[in-house]
Amino acid sequence: MVQNENSKIIIAIDGYSGCGKSSTAKTVASKLGYAYIDTGAMYRAVTLYFYQQKVDHQSKGQVRKALTSILLEFKFDENTKSSHIYLNGENVESLIRQMHISERVSQVSTIAEVRHFLVAQQRQMGEKKGIVMDGRDIGTVVFPNAELKVFMTAQVPTRALRRQKELESLGQQVELAEIIANLEKRDLIDSTREESPLRKAEDAIEIDTTYLEFEEQVEKILKLVKEPQST
Ligand code: C5P
Repeated sequence: MVQNENSKIIIAIDGYSGCGKSSTAKTVASKLGYAYIDTGAMYRAVTLYFYQQKVDHQSKGQVRKALTSILLEFKFDENTKSSHIYLNGENVESLIRQMHISERVSQVSTIAEVRHFLVAQQRQMGEKKGIVMDGRDIGTVVFPNAELKVFMTAQVPTRALRRQKELESLGQQVELAEIIANLEKRDLIDSTREESPLRKAEDAIEIDTTYLEFEEQVEKILKLVKEPQST
């Protein structure tokens, strides 16, 4: 289903934490021959840097200075056949998935300077289209004119179980209760923050993945690419 250059579009996938956005977006991108950008990884990498450098979030001066020292890149990893995020030249793909980063990331994501810094880079990545980007504000702020916008939802227990499995595959054993508390806390901060809160764009198509198999989620989005407005 790889498309020619002129028919390439931007696919924005937003939704709550743990709805399966990233894995779905990654597979959709690979089937279409598109680039895939996990914007959550960018917020996580900034959070990791702030944590390592002990940046005081309340200090605009420290935040601005720290941002000038951050270089983020995505590079394709041949072993896992997926793109990994690099922070100042270091592959931090697994470091950013640690629970203590998940606990801090939503707070860092409320900082306007951080959002402006990352949104500018995300827009640049989409200039040539042919991209699937997932996050919280892609259809509303980053690409309000994206040709296809999807908003993914799922019930909390399903999301928590999926996240637990994902962490297990990274070698981290985390109690379900801790994961649920983290998801709910992040949802609350993400959807109530002042700067670009998480919300469904008016023209986004909602997909509830609670009872969907992974392949069905992917198929639904590929169908929307072929036949816009089908659900
Ligand atoms: O997608 P993931 O769960 O890895 O995202 C981690 C956190 O990054 C989210 O809970 C949210 O606080 C923040 N985020 C955001 N805007 C995005 C992507 C992620 O605020 N576009």
